[in-house]
Amino acid sequence: MKKIYLDNAATTQVRQEVINEMIGVLQNDFGNPSSTHSFGRSAKTILETSRKSVAKLMGCNAQEIIFTANATEATNWILKSAVNDLKVERIITSKVEHHATLYTVKNLQKQFGIEVDYVNILPSGTIDITHLVTLLAKSGKTLVTLMHVNNEIGAVLDIEKVGRICHQHDALFHCDTVQSVGKKEFNLHELPIDFAVASAHKFHGPKGAGFAYVKKGIVLQPFLYGGEQEKGLRAGTEAVHQVAGMAKALELSYEHLVEERQTISDLKSYCEEQLKLNFQEIKVNGSDTFYNILNVLLPFSEEKTAMILFNLDMKGIAVSRGSACQSGSVKPSHVLSEILAEEDLKKPSLRISFSHYNTKEDIDALIDGLKGI
Ligand code: PLP
Repeated sequence: MKKIYLDNAATTQVRQEVINEMIGVLQNDFGNPSSTHSFGRSAKTILETSRKSVAKLMGCNAQEIIFTANATEATNWILKSAVNDLKVERIITSKVEHHATLYTVKNLQKQFGIEVDYVNILPSGTIDITHLVTLLAKSGKTLVTLMHVNNEIGAVLDIEKVGRICHQHDALFHCDTVQSVGKKEFNLHELPIDFAVASAHKFHGPKGAGFAYVKKGIVLQPFLYGGEQEKGLRAGTEAVHQVAGMAKALELSYEHLVEERQTISDLKSYCEEQLKLNFQEIKVNGSDTFYNILNVLLPFSEEKTAMILFNLDMKGIAVSRGSACQSGSVKPSHVLSEILAEEDLKKPSLRISFSHYNTKEDIDALIDGLKGI
């Protein structure tokens, strides 16, 4: 049975060139980057060359990139340090953020009593900018944390506009760019963003590698104490092969961006067309969504909700639900809860997310699979 992977917002297949790069580093450059001998220096060179490459592709300076294990770690560090070290008293966020942000903010509220405001979400899945402006009018040192591309529905934030508004109100802007890094051009120095985060496994790189962008001039305190690694901000021996794999993955993503974005956009259009042709009452959740994510509300009965993923999985097709499924129970997605009516929330929604490795045949198989349910 051919297996079909249509869950690329969850994670992506590692490119072969990235695997080769990592194997090369593991075999030949096993030195500790902090060692002063040639083995260490060689590992250090890989680390710093990777940092320069990531920075160049992101449009910032190498000193502004701090390597982490993933985006969750980067977001935890930035938000915690913003409260502890930058004396942020209030965080403005939204209820459709990833849990890496939502739970960190909730924890900071509980631990330090900071004020938290949630900006309203429009039916399209994007934020209500007028409401954001109203919230920003209140006094107090504020940080705004909003995601660029929503991982469940693909709603896109106008980061330029939102960042400008934040800065006009003297608020810091942290943007969760996990779903857009490697899939859209960035020039961080031209964007009104103070902090951004990424995970390599979302752009065909390895798991266990990510980075934080911290704009020059902003001083955060260490996340982990110990050695001098990552300018003393994140102590611990660096995972050189992971970092090298991440840099390679980002380089390849941008090298092939134009053609791969076209391929993926075409696949998404084809999928939407075919779904509408075969299931007339299907509805797309969110509007003007990012080119690799399609979230649809299926015109199936409530009883079928729990079985859909299982049935598709039996056919070798991996997609995910708009609803998080925990140990067999169906809990509505916190994102869809913000934009769907009560009765629609009970019906099955499906998140289909594409990569350049997908083909039209994959989509035909998904449609056949759904027809059989
Ligand atoms: N933010 C968004 C939008 C995501 O999609 C994810 C991963 O699903 C994360 C943050 C967290 O990424 P990681 O689990 O790699 O730390």
